[in-house]
Amino acid sequence: MISDLDSPSPELIDKCVHCGFCLPTCPTYLLWGEEMDSPRGRIHLMKAGVEGRAEITPTYVKHFDACLGCLACVTACPSGVQYAPLIEKQRAQIERNYERPAGDRAFRSLLMSLIPYPGRMRIALAPLALFGGLVRAIGRAGILPKRLSAALKLAPRVSIGSLFASTPERTAAAGVERMKVAMLTGCVQRLAFADVNDATVRVLTAEGCSVAAPGAQGCCGALPLHAGYIDQARELARHNIDVFERSGVERIVVNAAGCGSAMKEYGELFKDDPAWATRAHDLSAKVRDVSELLAELGEPRAPRHPIAARVAYHDACHLAHGQGVRAQPRALLQAIPGIELVTPAEPEICCGSAGIYNLVQPTPAAQLGERKAKHIAAASPDMIATANPGCTLQIGSAAAKLGYEWPIFHPIELVDASIRGVDPRKL
Ligand code: SF4
Ligand code: SF4
Repeated sequence: MISDLDSPSPELIDKCVHCGFCLPTCPTYLLWGEEMDSPRGRIHLMKAGVEGRAEITPTYVKHFDACLGCLACVTACPSGVQYAPLIEKQRAQIERNYERPAGDRAFRSLLMSLIPYPGRMRIALAPLALFGGLVRAIGRAGILPKRLSAALKLAPRVSIGSLFASTPERTAAAGVERMKVAMLTGCVQRLAFADVNDATVRVLTAEGCSVAAPGAQGCCGALPLHAGYIDQARELARHNIDVFERSGVERIVVNAAGCGSAMKEYGELFKDDPAWATRAHDLSAKVRDVSELLAELGEPRAPRHPIAARVAYHDACHLAHGQGVRAQPRALLQAIPGIELVTPAEPEICCGSAGIYNLVQPTPAAQLGERKAKHIAAASPDMIATANPGCTLQIGSAAAKLGYEWPIFHPIELVDASIRGVDPRKL
């Protein structure tokens, strides 16, 4: 039974006029053509739950577990339905009030007790750093349960060096300071994509920002928030609000789409908590994706050198649909001489990564990954650019399965390489 605490808002539910404009952009409706696996169907089920007409049964839960939370429906909806807070609350209800089968519950709890905590993840990823080839071969051998094998296939490439990499707590601006910013170093990002953080600091400082990367910061809470672990998300968010408030900066820069989207939602997450509502709202107002921040700074200060490459830009859902950030990363890339930017077909459709989705729902995730990789292949790129670590891993895995080996970069890595005058493929 849906309970009152953190229940999906009836006012938001009632904004849906059942027009169906969202259906063609919903990845699960695209895969199965099933109304209850469309945004409209899921909102209908939420309404039935909130009004006490539906129990939380395995069939009821299945339709919400299948949702990627990609928010393509938000972009498509002409009535302004805010699906993000609806699905987040709906999932919180499921995790609180539904007894999952033991294996499913244990797997989800394991992910939530590991991924958002870099110290624990460092230990979990150490075998990959030491015996990566062997561990991946076991994942490919088909001898493990489906979810475990998906986790190994999608595991990031890490080294002992990357697991212990750290970002300096303060880096001064090059030349006259234009802005003081702080950077979220992330949980997966700091361990597996430390190069992206390094590139972000270099570009921001080259463009006149002093960059703080508070050592006390933790996970932003995006993964638990999107998976229904709302209390854990709030706990992580409170910690980071505290840490970033103390940094005294004008902007908080994020280079991972899912994290930026979650941090911009802190206001919503704490709107009913008088002790935190204002602080959360004020912090959210300072959060910018790195591409937004660079656009806000105006005319680039650091000269760009050419990179001769055809680049396929993949819109991360939580950047495009979650934050409405589409033009800024494209403008950043197009400002690099020599880059030919292409957008593969179906840019609005999720690649299947979606937080922990490709771990808990490996079959539809793999189907969507393959669909995405085929569209990218049709665009014949030399490299891919995308602004979310999950998309990088998912597309890399789907591409490898089809025999493609495109290098995949965060857009900020290409800007950094251009400023430094190096070919990103040789880094
Ligand atoms: S979030 Fe994505 S998968 Fe879920 S209903 Fe909306 S479009 Fe469909
Ligand atoms: S487009 Fe918006 S209003 Fe129309 S069915 Fe989808 S969610 Fe409801």
